Formats: sequence, structure tokens, C-alpha cells
Amino acid sequence: MTTKELDNKYIMHTYGRYDVALVSGSGVTAFDEDGRKYIDVSSGIGVNSLGYCNEGWVEAVTKQASTIQHMSNYFYSPQASALAEKLCKLTGMAKVCFGNSGAEANECAIKIARKYSFDKYGEGRNEIITLRNSFHGRTVTTLSATGQDVFHNFFFPFTEGFKYIEAGDMSVLENAVSGKTCAVMLELIQGEGGVNIMDMDYAKALFDFCAERDILVIVDEVQTGVGRTGKLFAFRNYGVKPDLVTAAKGLGGGLPIGACLCNDKLGGVMTPSTHGTTFGANPVVCAGANYVIDTVSKEDFLDEVEAKGAYLEGLLRKLPEVKNVRRMGLMVGIEIDGDAHDIAAKCVENGLLIITAKDVLRMLPPLTIKREELKEAVSILKSTLKECK
Ligand SMILES: *Cc1c(COP(=O)(O)O)cnc(C)c1O
Repeated sequence: MTTKELDNKYIMHTYGRYDVALVSGSGVTAFDEDGRKYIDVSSGIGVNSLGYCNEGWVEAVTKQASTIQHMSNYFYSPQASALAEKLCKLTGMAKVCFGNSGAEANECAIKIARKYSFDKYGEGRNEIITLRNSFHGRTVTTLSATGQDVFHNFFFPFTEGFKYIEAGDMSVLENAVSGKTCAVMLELIQGEGGVNIMDMDYAKALFDFCAERDILVIVDEVQTGVGRTGKLFAFRNYGVKPDLVTAAKGLGGGLPIGACLCNDKLGGVMTPSTHGTTFGANPVVCAGANYVIDTVSKEDFLDEVEAKGAYLEGLLRKLPEVKNVRRMGLMVGIEIDGDAHDIAAKCVENGLLIITAKDVLRMLPPLTIKREELKEAVSILKSTLKECK
């Protein structure tokens, strides 16, 4: 049977797939089973932050795999400790808890927020306000946190204690907050929700409002973190200080990792046996993440991410079919005339791996992408848009 036939027979259909089986990659280029070449400006939804099979990353990972591949969390791990120090020092946060995915990192943040409030104020102050159009994961609790009705189906009962508000208007937040509110959880740029960039003044006002009331702010940087927006974390672009920050997608450079960072105030909330995961802080994964962080945290690397993003935006804005570009760093939403899903599928046929978010085309290219490669990607998009008219 072919790859596609085996997949259809044996894998549960939780995703609609493009008709391509990828077998190898190098940098921004992926190859399918027939040896056909694709430019990938999606990087596995922002995961392959240094592109496919980056040399230094491969070396770090393979070296660790042949040194010690796993130990339980009952033992110390130099790779995990080193990664934790880097993340804390670079972000100004105090402590980190490692997991294996974005949803898990968010679950951890939710647990910390609720326990902080329980320890300090007792039972009942456990409500978390999230935003309309947000996306926080696929576990029962993170689905509950996700502020989109389409996700609140089939799997009843969902975790209680979430309230959804429209972003952008402080009076809406003020009305939603009550004595039961323990946290606000948000993405500074909603990724799955359509690349919606939060207004800077609103973000600042929200953080100030919450700080005055000891309401924690959880920033979900699963998609925006690790250099994607031209700063190590997007909250740096906003000049705000979250109580909790979550990261995942780009952090491992292609291996599964989640991280929940907290500030000093929350550093002592979680105690032995309040949280855990067998695979969390795996040394091979952490070796990859250490390499990613060492690479992307350099000031000139981050400046290049923003500069290349601006260059890409310039190219996109020249296309007549492009109505608007929503962008920070190399996180890009493209408003177009026409159906984004049809256009993305056509782009894949034409050798460009691109994804969508709601009704926009979305680009999350490897942060290492070169200007010529961006130009090549836009040129495929340009001819595809003509073809789709
Ligand atoms: C992808 C994503 C998640 C979920 O991450 P998983 O690793 O798929 O669990 C959560 N929040 C945001 C903002 C995301 O983009």
C-alpha cells in the first residue's frame, strides 16, 4: 500500500491532509516521496525554527542521543538545568516547568494560576478570563480555555471556570472581572485565530489593571515565542511583564517540548507531586532546545528576523490580490481576495508549503530563511494567485 493508503486505513482522521508525503528536508526545502522539491514557509506550524535538519541542531541532538537519551525526573539533568537557566535569564522569569507540548504548558500555567489563588485566597477564586478567537490547545481543559464555540462540542463536560471576552475594549474586561477571577490568559498575537495582533495600548492597560488586583496574566507564547516575532518572546515587543509565559512549538527546533515559565511571585507555588510528566525535560529534546535558544537569542539574529519579516511584507504588498498583511517578525497573516484554503492547496501543488489561519494565508517560515528564498516563495504565491483568479 502507498503511504496515503496506509494512513487512511490505520491513522485516525483528525486532520485533513494535503496530498503530499514528505520524506526529507534541508533548510527551507522539503522533498516528497517522488523527489519533488518544496519551499516550506510553514515550518511544521512554526516548529522547525531553524529549518529542516540544521547542522548544529542535528549535531547537538545526535550527540545527546548517543550519550544518555532519557532519565526520569527523579534525577538531575544537565541539559534541562542549562536550558532552564537560559530561559529564565533571557526572559527575566524565575522558574520553568517542562512538558511536551503547547497544550501541556498551558495546562501547567492554568494549574499554577489556580493554586496560587487557592493558597492565598482560599476556594472559589478560580475563574480564568480568555479571549474570543483564542487557541490554547486540544486537551479538555485547554479546549475549555479556547474562546471559540466550535471547540466546545462533543466532549462534555468541559472544565469549568473559563469566561470569554472580546479583546480590545478595557470596559469589557472590567465588567467581566469579579471576585472569582484569578487570571487572564491571552495570546499577544492570535495564531490559529487568524494572526490577530493585540493593540499595544490595550495590552498595557490590561496588564496594569490585572497587576493592581493580583489577577495573574498568562501569556500563551506557544506560537509567538522563541524569536518568531523578532524578540525572544512577543511580550518584549509590548513592554509588558507576564506572570506566566508558555512556549512550545519553535522551542525544540522539531522535537516535542513545552515550557511554562513563571515570575518570582509564583516560583514556590508548585511543590512535589502537584505536577509532573514522564517525558518532560527529556535530555535529547533539551539538547535541541539549548541549541535553538543559543542561536535565536542573539541580538543580531533577532534583528534579522524582523528585517526579513519587513522585507517579506514589502514583497507581499506588491501583489494586487493581497489586501493587507498582518505581521510581527516572521509571523505573517495575508489577507487576500479569494478562498485562503483553496489558494494554499494550489500553492502546495505548485511547490510552496503554506498554511492558513481562519480566512488568511499564514506564513511561519524558518527563522533562518534567506531573502532569496522569501523572494522565491512570494514568486510561487504570485503565480498561484493569478492561476486562482
Ligand atoms: C499550537 C498552539 C497550542 C497547542 O500546542 P500543542 O503543542 O499542539 O499542544 C496552544 N497555544 C497556541 C497559541 C498555539 O499556537
